[in-house]
Amino acid sequence: MSAHKNPRQFPANTREALANAPLQKTLERIKLGFQLFRMAAMQELPELESLRTALAAAKDRALAHLPHYLEQFEKNVIANGGQVHWARSASEAIAIVSRIAREAGVKRIVKSKSMLTEEIGLNAPLIRDGFEVVETDLGEYIIQLRDEPPSHIIAPAFHLSRADVTQSFRAAHTHLDPKRDIDDRKSLVREARQVLREKFLAADLGITGANALIAETGTVCLVTNEGNADLSMTHPRVHVAIAGIEKILPAMDDLALQLRLLGRSASGQRMTVYTSLRSGPRKAGDADGPEAFHVVLVDNGRSQLMRAETREVLRCIRCAACLNHCPVYASVGGHAYGVTYPGPIGAAFQPAISGIAATHHLPSASSFCGRCESVCPAKIPLTRIMRHWRERGFGKGVAETPNAIALKLFAFAARHPRLFRAAMKLARPFWHLPFGPMAKWRKHRNAPPAPAGSFVARVQQRRKP
Ligand code: SF4
Repeated sequence: MSAHKNPRQFPANTREALANAPLQKTLERIKLGFQLFRMAAMQELPELESLRTALAAAKDRALAHLPHYLEQFEKNVIANGGQVHWARSASEAIAIVSRIAREAGVKRIVKSKSMLTEEIGLNAPLIRDGFEVVETDLGEYIIQLRDEPPSHIIAPAFHLSRADVTQSFRAAHTHLDPKRDIDDRKSLVREARQVLREKFLAADLGITGANALIAETGTVCLVTNEGNADLSMTHPRVHVAIAGIEKILPAMDDLALQLRLLGRSASGQRMTVYTSLRSGPRKAGDADGPEAFHVVLVDNGRSQLMRAETREVLRCIRCAACLNHCPVYASVGGHAYGVTYPGPIGAAFQPAISGIAATHHLPSASSFCGRCESVCPAKIPLTRIMRHWRERGFGKGVAETPNAIALKLFAFAARHPRLFRAAMKLARPFWHLPFGPMAKWRKHRNAPPAPAGSFVARVQQRRKP
């Protein structure tokens, strides 16, 4: 399956994904790898519900006073010896990072995983500007070699098998002795580590994302399982942290709350392996750290979203639990969505930043089973937000013509009960025909047998004395 997809082609993308046998096999790992681990980790937390409520409240508090906390964060970063840059859009953010790198005489950049840099498309313009840019999270490194976008927000190479990775390393690492066995997991990791160590040591600039920005101390918090963020922000002489403005938290106590839920929600870990806090450049007497520390705060549609009915989506801590529990995501994988953030969070967030015209299929890619919001640590009402975007898409007339006509007909019939009942009666024999619109609907779904009578008829029957 080629990776760079268009969200406007979502129905075709899903058909392609469903017919892709190797992809279907890798997607089976979702249940074992994520769902069961999360469930086990959450069973250890009897206070889970109160923690989720507290996290939602802390994020809401931060967002309600966003300008205040962002300015407090900026003041404290400057007091710590760092610099803060404000970017209204993706292009402004790219220009800022490129300028910082140019002015610092940088040639080689190492990057730690950051979904925001995927959102703004940072790598390609930096490479065009003449910088070498290397992703250092193992999954990100693999997909960079393959020129693919991430298919999952915490496991970017989730769609690939071990054989795919072996093949990518053999193609890209031309120094590899063809006789050397790298087919098992350990050998692949060892090979990646050797190559990436050289990159870390040679890098002038490290770019990281941020899991949270702490206003009261001017601190950037990052969590990883590989330690690559620590190497990216400690060894190079310049560190640039880039984050969406919604990552702000008022205080360290709020961060402690977020961290208790993040690892468990994401991968079923009590804590991710590395939790790193950076509050400024290296000070006299420090053993290590960068000479310069920059934070780029990116809006890219978020302040507009603050004023919208869907603002709760900004509570997201990017744990991916909603993807891992979504039956649609588990059936088609991340690339089919054709956007940076796949799954329920993408269906709720992406229309706000990419426009409903381009993304109107995504909020419809939900059965509204509600599993996503039942596992969301920030209690984001994902189904309500998706419904909002469905309505917005329908209202703007961007829904596909057959769907729009079908919905209009349904709405008309639903307002006229007699007509509705007659239509249902007429439609019942067509339910199981091997052709026609219902046959198309049933192609990837198990349809129960049509009941003998309609729901209304059965209720009326029961009410009969
Ligand atoms: S919407 Fe909730 S579950 Fe999904 S990634 Fe964000 S915080 Fe996690």
